[in-house]
Amino acid sequence: MLKKGSKLNSILTGTCPKCQNESMYQDKNPLHLANVLKMNEHCSHCGLTYQIEPSFFYGAMYVSYGLNVAVGVAAFIISFVILGTTLKTAFISIIVALVLSFPFVLRFARNIYINMFVSYDPNFKNK
Ligand SMILES: [Zn+2]
Repeated sequence: MLKKGSKLNSILTGTCPKCQNESMYQDKNPLHLANVLKMNEHCSHCGLTYQIEPSFFYGAMYVSYGLNVAVGVAAFIISFVILGTTLKTAFISIIVALVLSFPFVLRFARNIYINMFVSYDPNFKNK
């Protein structure tokens, strides 16, 4: 499933979408919150510029919105439907889930967004 060359591999690991040889981020750990959005400008293997156009990653906000809705719905279903908590507890669990997942959502949104525009190509070289 996580073979090199699949988009899922790049999305889950945050590697360069073109060559998948190195991380796009300066700090691989999304839990270091100060560095969560610090990205390298280029891939040092293939030379791909991650910021395809100015403010490219603003578009990832829409992906992030979708991911946050998915996290919220999942938290609600788990607490209200499966665990049978009260409505108030269910809404608190949604907020807790969104706060805890936010560094991962931020990165996954960027990873998904850049993978919508860039495909895997092991022979790509940007001069
Ligand atoms: Zn690369």
